[in-house]
Amino acid sequence: MLIAGEWVESSSGERFERNSPAHDVLVGSYPLGTQADADAAIEAARKAFDSGEWAYMKGADRATCLRRVAQTIRDNVDALALVETLESGKPIAQARGEMEGAAGIWEYAATLAYHTYGDTYNTLGSDMLGFTLREPIGVVSMITPWNFPLLIISQKLPFALAAGCTAVIKPSELTPGTTLMLGRMIGEAGIPAGVVNIVTGYGDPVGARLSAHPAVDMCSFTGSTNVGKMIVDASKGNLKKVSLELGGKNPQIVFADSDLEAALDAVVFGVYFNMGECCNSGSRLLVQRDIADDFIKKIVERSRTVPVGDPLDEKTKVGAIVNQMQFDKILAMVESGRNAGATLELGGQVLKSPNGRYIEPTVFSGVTPDMEIAKEEIFGPVLSVLTFDAAEEAIEIANSTLYGLSAGVWTRDIDTAFHVSRRIRAGTIWVNTFMDGYPELPFGGYGESGLGRELGRSALEEFTELKTMQLHLGERTNWWHRP
Ligand code: NAD
Repeated sequence: MLIAGEWVESSSGERFERNSPAHDVLVGSYPLGTQADADAAIEAARKAFDSGEWAYMKGADRATCLRRVAQTIRDNVDALALVETLESGKPIAQARGEMEGAAGIWEYAATLAYHTYGDTYNTLGSDMLGFTLREPIGVVSMITPWNFPLLIISQKLPFALAAGCTAVIKPSELTPGTTLMLGRMIGEAGIPAGVVNIVTGYGDPVGARLSAHPAVDMCSFTGSTNVGKMIVDASKGNLKKVSLELGGKNPQIVFADSDLEAALDAVVFGVYFNMGECCNSGSRLLVQRDIADDFIKKIVERSRTVPVGDPLDEKTKVGAIVNQMQFDKILAMVESGRNAGATLELGGQVLKSPNGRYIEPTVFSGVTPDMEIAKEEIFGPVLSVLTFDAAEEAIEIANSTLYGLSAGVWTRDIDTAFHVSRRIRAGTIWVNTFMDGYPELPFGGYGESGLGRELGRSALEEFTELKTMQLHLGERTNWWHRP
């Protein structure tokens, strides 16, 4: 673990291990962090922040450090991708793309280090000037999930660093490898000791401590909605700021007039990408009734040909499910769909493999909005297909879950595209495309999909406080002599 610039073992001396989900071989052994370790890391981050060395460093110099990290990520794409694949089960070719994407985010965040500025108020009369300063919020704890380990920490850390914050990170206990590799790169990039600290271990006690500790000013969390609510509870002690990136049950809405070949490709990609273990998974398809039968047939045919298997095989598109708990949850949701009366068009079975946990691409039709498989995140390769007649019905179904992370809208009619996009309560809407991401575009959820925004300019603001300053010019009118 990285605490105050030193690589240390857990204070308990204990370690935990990670076996690869695809091959069931040992791929990692990590210190089992304790509450005392979390406290030490927070103390280091607090000292590093309060010293002002990083917070008051010139933006240009902070940017140089961030660009160095980006370059080192690029130089190590293969090594990072291999560790992510071994720990998460995701396809290796996809993992390489994510590492490149992470480097791109660090490069973008570096540019923001020049731009922590506020407004001026030249409206307060001839003897008064007002202005706002954006200041780093302070010590930020960051708790991340297992599905996109390096990409998700890269949606938080470089923006916090660009703003001048210090950090304590707890990666998922299933995938700590690349976050620790990032820790080495941060040290080599010239970022001072104690600015970034990493504690490995479980949600309880490490994550719980990072969300409750009074010396932490903000907790930035990505993970499940249930744990997100626990973070909000834990944060109450010192009213720390909380930002949450949580789950989704994202609809892709396909109108009869759309480019159906493009929509078909995006639906299949949207649901099977990262084994469906993706907050943005397009796990609900809402298809217009006139074309539904034919479109579902095509989806089933295409789904049959998706290459599932060893994530180290370059051709694999769907790898192994991350752990037994997730595997059992997906199969229980398939059972729930069957019991609720949905039609299982394809899959639902475990793929035979000597070691790995694989689930076949699965398609349910005849799904209604009240079914569990239409409302709850499955986090597996399972598509729930619902039908609609008119745009208003599609909007109603799209908005009928507690989530609101993202949605896809497929139509050639610009009025329909804008009308539906504006009425869907979700943080990102893709029109005639799905799940593209850019470092400069903000990302986050409505409703129970989260609080706050990552990426883009707004991410920098998330990691700042706004200070108002008023400057009096000339002689002050004495209070005693005012009317
Ligand atoms: P999770 O909530 O189980 O765990 C996330 C992190 O929280 C892990 O590091 C875990 O150790 C930690 N944690 C667990 N209990 C804790 C506690 N009591 N206090 C503090 N921390 C605790 O989620 P997961 O299974 O790792 O990831 C899957 C979930 O993440 C899905 O719901 C998915 O939708 C969501 N997710 C959201 C986004 C997004 O950007 N919106 C991105 C990726 C994943």
